Amino acid sequence: MNEEKTYECAYCHRKWNSPEERMKCEQKCYAERVAEQERQKKEQQEALLRIKEEARKVQKIKKIKEIQQEYDKFIADVKQFNGEYKEPVKIDGKYYDFSNDTLFSSGILDPFEEWLNGRF
Ligand SMILES: [Zn+2]
Repeated sequence: MNEEKTYECAYCHRKWNSPEERMKCEQKCYAERVAEQERQKKEQQEALLRIKEEARKVQKIKKIKEIQQEYDKFIADVKQFNGEYKEPVKIDGKYYDFSNDTLFSSGILDPFEEWLNGRF
């Protein structure tokens, strides 16, 4: 039998001798196509996730820089206050004095409260 192959798969365009063979090929090709589409979709989602994660990291570094700048400004403001009024700044029960760079120059506890608590 030297029948001409006239049944062409709609997906891969291979030619077959019978509609049954073509049908099998098309089913296989269709399944492969669906799997490939799923794979690509998953890949795209993963790529998007990586981009979002990267953007988040960049945002985090930017935020740390902002906080650092605000902190530096806070230190400078307190230092200026300390120099101008010759006294620490009291915030939330703590005294801040950065005018001298001693070990306890930041976040000193209120000596009066300490005294009340019996530590002195
Ligand atoms: Zn095919």
